[in-house]
Amino acid sequence: MNIKRNILLNPGPSTTTDTVKMAQVVPDICPREKEFAGIMAPMREDLVRIVHGGSDYTSVLFCGSGTICIDIALNSLLDEGKKALVINNGSYSERACDVCRYYGLPLVEIDQPIDEKPDLSVIENALKSDPDIGYVYVTYHETGTGLLNPVREIGEIAHRYGKFLITDTTSAYAMIPINVHEDNIDFCMASAQKGIMGMTGLSYIVGRRNIIEKSKDFPKRSYYCNLYMQYEYFEKTGEMHFTPPVQTIYAAKQALIEYFEEGEEPKWARHTRVMNAIRAGIDELGLHEALSRDVQAGLVAAIEYPDDPNWDFDKIHDYCYERGFTIYPGKMQNKGTFRLCALGAIDEQDIKDFWAVFKDALKNAGVAVPVKYM
Ligand SMILES: *Cc1c(COP(=O)(O)O)cnc(C)c1O
Repeated sequence: MNIKRNILLNPGPSTTTDTVKMAQVVPDICPREKEFAGIMAPMREDLVRIVHGGSDYTSVLFCGSGTICIDIALNSLLDEGKKALVINNGSYSERACDVCRYYGLPLVEIDQPIDEKPDLSVIENALKSDPDIGYVYVTYHETGTGLLNPVREIGEIAHRYGKFLITDTTSAYAMIPINVHEDNIDFCMASAQKGIMGMTGLSYIVGRRNIIEKSKDFPKRSYYCNLYMQYEYFEKTGEMHFTPPVQTIYAAKQALIEYFEEGEEPKWARHTRVMNAIRAGIDELGLHEALSRDVQAGLVAAIEYPDDPNWDFDKIHDYCYERGFTIYPGKMQNKGTFRLCALGAIDEQDIKDFWAVFKDALKNAGVAVPVKYM
């Protein structure tokens, strides 16, 4: 089968290999058969292995997009009388605050600028002055801007005050090398369509088994979205409590084979190569990034719209899209930006090909090259 190859430069779902796409085409199977549980058991171990957890960590699979993990981690891991401390410095941590508000969870929100590293002393002071905090939550890589948070340092502070750390690693997991022990991470999470380059509909939380077991007695705030419930069901039966995304799990199985074949360091080197090619094109065309490169994770470039009367994002997007390249709007208030992301099964040459098309798109729209800013 010949499948058209699109280059997705949006922040997920990512470009996948044909072998991962084709892995979804399998004989029909009832997911309650032992054969199917036999796929998920090693998958759970592989997902822990990616972030170098030992037997003290486990992973729990869910059917849903990445946001389901934010929801589940926040609502399931807060004990009665405890408060959630959330570092808010981007649209994904804002989403986490929204989740807390929707559940009515007591929330200590630490607002920080979205374009620079957070002030660690503010986080420490909050922990010092409030013994009722249950956990600290931070987004590892803010995908809206490309900001990398100092998770290891934040985890160290959390641990010093006897709290555990939850981090949303959805846009870093299986891309940036993560070691849960060294990085002071108690819980992290991701979704199959991002780092492992699988399909949408499967997400997972990787975290400390003893804390999950303790959470058995925490308040149950959701019937469907509860971490302990799903964990216990997996431990007892090897299955998801409710119907799993069957074909997506077959694709994830193949994606994990390819992940370990490529290897952690070579994969991160490839993403870095892709980002360097993205940056080379940005510099050549005179484009401006919203964040300084030294605070970025190196996986997302948020680019400011040029000040050109002929600039029209939709027009540029459509021109590129028709030629197989997808670019994506930004997520910054008061500032027009678009994003180019280094996720997925792509390499340097794809970015070179993209910039040639993008340059044509600018010319076609009548935008001056190099681009201008006021
Ligand atoms: C993609 C992403 C998510 C999940 O978003 P969904 O649209 O629910 O898949 C969560 N957190 C971060 C940081 C992300 O990049």
